[in-house]
Amino acid sequence: MTDLHRNYIAGEWVAGADTAKNINPSDLSDVIGVYARADKAQADAAIGAARAAFPSWAASSVQDRANWLDAIGNTILARKDELGRLLSREEGKTLPEGVGEAARAGQIFKFFAGETLRLAGEKIPSVRPGIDVEVTREPIGVIGLITPWNFPIAIPAWKIAPALAYGNCVVFKPAELVPGSAWALAEIIVNAGVPKGVFNLVMGRGSIVGEALVNDRRVDGISFTGSVATGRAIAAKAIQRMAKLQLEMGGKNPLIVLDDADLAVALNCAINGAYFSTGQRCTASSRLIVGAGIHDRFVSALSDRLAKLKVDDALAPGTDIGPVVDEAQLKQDLDYIGIGQKEGAKLVAGGQVLERSKKGHYLAPALLTEATNAMRTSREEIFGPVASVIRVQDYDEAVSVANDTDFGLSAGIVTTSLKHASHFKRASEAGMVMVNLPTAGVDYHVPFGGRKGSSYGPREQGRYAREFFTVVKTAYTLP
Ligand code: ADP
Repeated sequence: MTDLHRNYIAGEWVAGADTAKNINPSDLSDVIGVYARADKAQADAAIGAARAAFPSWAASSVQDRANWLDAIGNTILARKDELGRLLSREEGKTLPEGVGEAARAGQIFKFFAGETLRLAGEKIPSVRPGIDVEVTREPIGVIGLITPWNFPIAIPAWKIAPALAYGNCVVFKPAELVPGSAWALAEIIVNAGVPKGVFNLVMGRGSIVGEALVNDRRVDGISFTGSVATGRAIAAKAIQRMAKLQLEMGGKNPLIVLDDADLAVALNCAINGAYFSTGQRCTASSRLIVGAGIHDRFVSALSDRLAKLKVDDALAPGTDIGPVVDEAQLKQDLDYIGIGQKEGAKLVAGGQVLERSKKGHYLAPALLTEATNAMRTSREEIFGPVASVIRVQDYDEAVSVANDTDFGLSAGIVTTSLKHASHFKRASEAGMVMVNLPTAGVDYHVPFGGRKGSSYGPREQGRYAREFFTVVKTAYTLP
């Protein structure tokens, strides 16, 4: 059995109140490691350490912060293969997806190393002659970062990097299912020599460590990515004490396929967007809204392609789709496939639990057809390799179905019509719109986030990250 992986609090690696095993979803007999689980007292200690470190970190040289972030980014990039393997082993996305995500984390740190030096303010003429007005940005203080299991290194990176870049201190609470990538990232940050207390890793339960962060007045901001239910509960609590909030939650992302679409492009967008990373992406296309003129050809070709996808061990060469992350998620996926059928949809591909040489949570990618937008499978986030086809008569109906949802993270359209593509970019009620591209898969230097029930608070990523991770100050001077 491997050594205990400890939490990092106030500049020390410390054992938790409890421990948990990290299990490989591709091979349930494979224990990746044993990880500490903190209790409330340890979460409190981490918050206290971050608070104590904040004044000097906030006043530190931007060159020093840029150097730290750049060094962290370089180390992640140099170790992307090893980090990607660990990520795929614990989360279940394929090895190329895992390595790609690890590389992304490195790029994010390097991007924010540059951003450290670009935190400009404004000097504006006063309406009163002789007075100077300056608008500057300052760090917000101690930030609690609560992350989900589906992007075990990229999401932590896109919260930690801007938090540190702009002079905030961090208490990082990763998801219970993926402590391995979080711990590896923490070790890289610690070894880069970031001062004591500036960065704290507190692995543990959401209901204990997460709650402690949300409820503590010493935590100035909470940046959360996870489920809608947890996001709403966090918001309700954090607002009581007026904490700054940034929430990224679910999606029910539409991919429209118009009659004039290039079928090959439509298939690639659907397969990538709905099924890659085992469909476990908040930007996954779970509603395929397909024109009546292309519907039958699209469904038949997509079913054929799905049947050929290789579902197997995430680390095995040639695997297209890895396992579902755990038993609870697999049950949820299967339940929704059953609910869809009861509501009148037809299961035309996949949906069965698969046996492989190693025991894991394998599910054949499922396609439901004859779905309506009113079905629960079209309204609730499933978060697995399950998509529904909703047939529509024309572009106008497609747009109205696409927007008829409580969510608004990402939305896609496959069309050769410039007119419809241009119109959809304006008409979509999603935060991110994709034309002839999958709904999932984004750049790291531009805003990420949604509307309606998908997101709350300022956007993440790119230079927009400063909206959450800094606060503005307006200063007036009579020289
Ligand atoms: P999922 O696990 O499906 O991604 P969750 O919303 O359950 O979505 O979890 C996302 C993150 O929120 C995890 O790190 C989890 O531990 C944390 N979390 C869960 N419950 C709470 C809570 N009550 N307060 C704060 N954080 C929580």
